[in-house]
This record gives sequence, structure tokens and C-alpha cells, in this order.
Amino acid sequence: MERQSGWKKKTKEEIERIFAFCDGYKEFLDRAKTEREAARCIEDTLRQAGFGDGGGSGRTFRINKGKEVIAWCPGKAESLDGLRIIIAHIDAPRLDLKQNPLYEDVDLALLRTHYYGGIKKYHWVAIPLAIHGIIVKADGTSVEVAIGEDNKDPVFAIDDLLPHLSRKTQDEKKLSEAIEGEKLTVLFGSLPLLGEEKNAVKGYILQLLNEKYGVIEEDFISAEIEVVPAFKARDVGLDRSMIGAYGQDDRASAYPLLKAICDAEGPTHPALAMFVDKEEIGSEGNTGARSHFIKIFLHEILGASGRTVSDEMVQRILFNSKAISADVNGAVNPNWQDVHEKQNACYLGGGICVTKFTGHMGKVGANDAHAEYIAEIRRLFSKEGIIWQTGELGKIDEGGGGTVAKYLAEYGMDTIDMGAPLLAMHSPFEISSKIDIYEAYRAFKAFLVS
Ligand code: MN
Ligand code: MN
Repeated sequence: MERQSGWKKKTKEEIERIFAFCDGYKEFLDRAKTEREAARCIEDTLRQAGFGDGGGSGRTFRINKGKEVIAWCPGKAESLDGLRIIIAHIDAPRLDLKQNPLYEDVDLALLRTHYYGGIKKYHWVAIPLAIHGIIVKADGTSVEVAIGEDNKDPVFAIDDLLPHLSRKTQDEKKLSEAIEGEKLTVLFGSLPLLGEEKNAVKGYILQLLNEKYGVIEEDFISAEIEVVPAFKARDVGLDRSMIGAYGQDDRASAYPLLKAICDAEGPTHPALAMFVDKEEIGSEGNTGARSHFIKIFLHEILGASGRTVSDEMVQRILFNSKAISADVNGAVNPNWQDVHEKQNACYLGGGICVTKFTGHMGKVGANDAHAEYIAEIRRLFSKEGIIWQTGELGKIDEGGGGTVAKYLAEYGMDTIDMGAPLLAMHSPFEISSKIDIYEAYRAFKAFLVS
């Protein structure tokens, strides 16, 4: 059970291949900051790889409400027992604009937000921010908004308090209470509309929004606008071995999965890749892992090949399937090693991390993969020379977390968690190791064709 850096097992040529693979990953990170954008990027890549959304029984995909994608690759085996399923989520922690967000105060225009997922609020002040999303007008037409990504675009920001004046208001408080959720308001403008007496700054912002997007203030009610970091994915380290970017939880799984399903040539069993929304808030909603989209999808796909499909048949296929819940894990943090039990933790650069169970306080909420299934995974990875490690999320009772694994397991299929380890997970600038991203791709591909 000796641990070794995965990099030590790679040749110079292999390292070049890993770096090249991660150039594609960085592009994906920049193009797919929201779940809608991720779904669109996934659709583009699938189409290029010969997947279609028509009625045939070949390589097929379906999109659910622009936020969830399932891709299907037919298998060699005639038998429908036992699909190979990998699921990853494409939502990420962020700030959402409230439904009535815009106001003016002290001659500034500001936008109120409501945070989404597990963030540390102090991460979001004093950094450049972009806004991405969609505004659906009352007549049903919609406009897309993405401001802050192009170098010529303006960016936005949440003001923090200067240290000179923060002693009582912030410094003496608990870290989790120093920045309140209601204070995460986005600075949006300061020019007054000439000739306007009241709310002139807000007035000018509304005029600009109307000129550029044809929207009025009420249209925010039916908008989904997400505030995300404005910076792009970057290499980290003088040796460029790591990547820093927003949204790696869980593009660190979604991108390797996307590439793996595209490259899955002639899988033995039908292979299925699922990209789901809403994991960060409990997989609720009709685009999350708890929706029944997979069942509707299977009905459609199996029906397209001329079979008579029943609910019982779909349920049996799901029961006999094998699954990976692809999700990141927390790598041992060099500054806070104490929160990990280092004999059972995962390390940056140690390869894809296989996690038997997640949960908190005695595995509560975990899927807990069976020993027999883990042995199968070990055999496969050893045959394919995958660089992997095991790891649980933190010391006992230190905290914890869950994944979508348990929602797949509800169908009866064997399910196991695995994914790249991250540093600074759920921060605006999460860090991954390039080798772990690449080994995730190799592991997912090996599993999908097995
Ligand atoms: Mn995740
Ligand atoms: Mn997460």
C-alpha cells in the first residue's frame, strides 16, 4: 500500500500527451461556466463525434431543458443486461441574481444575489466577476447574456470592507459570519441618466439593458443569471503541472467523461454518459440526478431499435447495470493536513481517486460500494494500467459531503464514486493536477468499453 506520485510513472512523451489533453480541458472550462453552457459544449462535441439527436439507434444523445445531457453508445453485446453508466454533474457553486435584483444606493447601481451551493462567502468579494445567463421575456422570447469574459468586456465586483474599518464589523466575527449572504451585492454601475432626478443610476442601467437586450426591469423575474469568476483557466506552477480554474467541481469529471464517451469505440455493453444539473443543491429538480430522465431516455432509445419496451424491462436493465459516480474529492491540503486522515486520503497527482463511501457522521447519506464491485474495478484498472488511488473525504466527523452515487444505486445498479482530487474545492479558483484529469479520462474510457 505504498503511495507514489503518479508523475513518476509517466515518460516524457506521456507527459506531453497529458498536457495536450488538458489544453482541451482548459478550453472547456472557459466555454462552460454554467450548466447551460456546459450542456451546449457537450452537445457540440457529441455532434462532432457522430452522436445525433434523431430517432436512430446508433450513437445518440438527448438534452433535458438545456441543462442535462445523456449520451448513448450502442454495445457489441446483443443483450441489454448491464449498461455501463457514468454520471457527472455540470452545475457549480456560484451566485444567482435574485428575481428583483437591481437597486440604487449611495449613487451606485447594485444587484442582489442568492448564493447557490456550498460557498465560502468571503471568497466572492474583491475578485473580478462575470455574469452569464438567460432572460426569458413575458412573450417567451429569450436573450442570452455573457458579460465579463472577453478582455474588452467590463467585469463586476462585490465590494469588501477596508481593513481600516473592519475591526468590529468583520474581524472579530467568526469567518463564516464575517460576510453575510445579503451583502453579496454586485456593483453594476455609477453613471446617472442625465435629467433624471430619482434613481438616475439605476435608470441609466435599465436604459442600457433595454438598448442592448431589449429587456425591461420586470424581465429579471423570469431570468436565470449566474455570477461567476471572470478569470480564465490557467496553468499553475512553474512546471505547468496543475490547472487553476472556476468550476472544476465538476468539469474535472464532466470533460474526461465527454472525451471518454466520444472515444469509446465498440464498447462491449451499451455505454451511457449522463451530465446532470443541481448536484450542488441536493440533486433536486427535474434536471438533477433524482429526476427520471434516464428512464424516459431508455424507453426512447430502446424503442428506436424496434423493441417493445416496458417499464419492467427498463427497470431490469438499470438494475443489472454498473455505474461510476464521477465526482471530485478533496486532496490533502499542504497547509491544513490535520483535516485529513492521511493514510486514507487522496493526494494531488496521485491519479484518479476511488472512493468507497462518502457521507458524514458514520457514512450517513453514503452509497458505500460493495467489496465485490471494487475488486472488479481494481482488476479493470490494473489491466489497463490506470494510475489511481483511494481516498475518503476528510477525517471522521470533520465534515463530509455527498454525491449522486446514491441516486443511481436506488435503481439497484452497482455504483462507485471516483474522480480527480482537487485543492481549494468549491472556491472560485480550484486546483487540479493534469495527470489526475487525464487518468480520469483513461479510467472512464476503460470502464465504458468494458
Ligand atoms: Mn462534484
Ligand atoms: Mn461540489
